[in-house]
Amino acid sequence: MSKTQEIVERYQKYVMPTYAQKLALVRGKGTRVWDSEGKVYLDFAAGISVVNVGHSHPAVAQAVAEQAQVLTHVSNMYYNENQSLLAEKLSSLSMGGKCFFCNSGAEGNEGLIKLARLWGHDKGRYEVICMKNSFHGRTLATAAATGQDKVKKGFEPMPEGFVHAEFNNLDSVAALVGEKTVAVLLEAVQGEGGVVPADEAFFNGVRQLCNDKGLLMLCDEVQCGMGRTGNWFGFQGYGVQPDAFSLAKALGNGYPIGAVVAAPGVSDVFQPGKHASTFGGTPLACAAALAAIRVIEEEGLLSRAAEKGAEFRNALGGFVGKFAHVKEVRGRGLMVGIVLDEPAGPLVQMLSDAGLLTLATAEKVVRFLPPLNVRDNELEEAVDIVGDCLAEWHGEQTAE
Ligand SMILES: *Cc1c(COP(=O)(O)O)cnc(C)c1O
Repeated sequence: MSKTQEIVERYQKYVMPTYAQKLALVRGKGTRVWDSEGKVYLDFAAGISVVNVGHSHPAVAQAVAEQAQVLTHVSNMYYNENQSLLAEKLSSLSMGGKCFFCNSGAEGNEGLIKLARLWGHDKGRYEVICMKNSFHGRTLATAAATGQDKVKKGFEPMPEGFVHAEFNNLDSVAALVGEKTVAVLLEAVQGEGGVVPADEAFFNGVRQLCNDKGLLMLCDEVQCGMGRTGNWFGFQGYGVQPDAFSLAKALGNGYPIGAVVAAPGVSDVFQPGKHASTFGGTPLACAAALAAIRVIEEEGLLSRAAEKGAEFRNALGGFVGKFAHVKEVRGRGLMVGIVLDEPAGPLVQMLSDAGLLTLATAEKVVRFLPPLNVRDNELEEAVDIVGDCLAEWHGEQTAE
């Protein structure tokens, strides 16, 4: 029996079948990963935008190894220096407020929702306007906030207090504002929704609407944050700031950590006893995050994501019109999607077989989220593989 078969059989017996995996990965270095049969892949999923500075980055590995030998965990009944340093860093990179640390994206968004509810409580406001096709997580409240029925089906009744507007349609947001509304929650670039960037006018319009109606603007930066779009945070690609935002995925470059970052006006809403997390912001998790942030700074990965992302989108854009079924290439920075006019699953499988890992999302979109320090030759290699697979898949477009 092959190593892979052994792993698969153990999964089938002992791991709940919530995912449909194909490969067992055993090692990663930079943009490359190796499976249990020794085959190497270019990893243009990077977790799902988790290892933004690449797999096994020596600076992150060293920070984790060193901290693990000094102090791994203390409860939040005590101060820990790393948490103070990480909060200071995230505050200075964003809007000068304060942070709360947790462990995942769903928990970060749960924290945003709780913060908004507590802020609006005395006025009887609790309802959050979310977007259709958004994704905010799999806990009950974040599934309720998510604008996709497939994450809710079978789990009803869903928690109350969430309504859904059309993304990139300001009128549809304004139409949902009522007496109970407390906040608007959105992604600057919808990830699971198919790599859809917010329009400039829409995003800025939501900020204005929130100002006018006295609502909080909340951004889910779990996927588009930490340099992915060419800015530290997706909202920085627009001229405005939210009142609070969530982080997770790439924050610890693979070490689990999430955060809620709140602007000065709402940064003291949570008082002792109002919110907590056992593992939130441990010395070890914060050491990983501090190291990952340092790498982004030292390797100049914000400008690299912006420049290389534009080149990559441009190169993939050459396939629009050339190959049948390729409708559009879109994204921001190194968050890139190829939009097809049919399900993306089969193409993603072909790409994987050819040694390029990508993600199918929103059914018809192939999503690319490579590490931000992906090398030039690796981007070129990926473009070649995509071109070859498209040619093999349905061939070149024929004039009709
Ligand atoms: C992945 C994701 C989440 C959920 O994060 P988890 O860590 O899986 O809970 C929430 N929001 C967005 C935008 C995401 O991409």
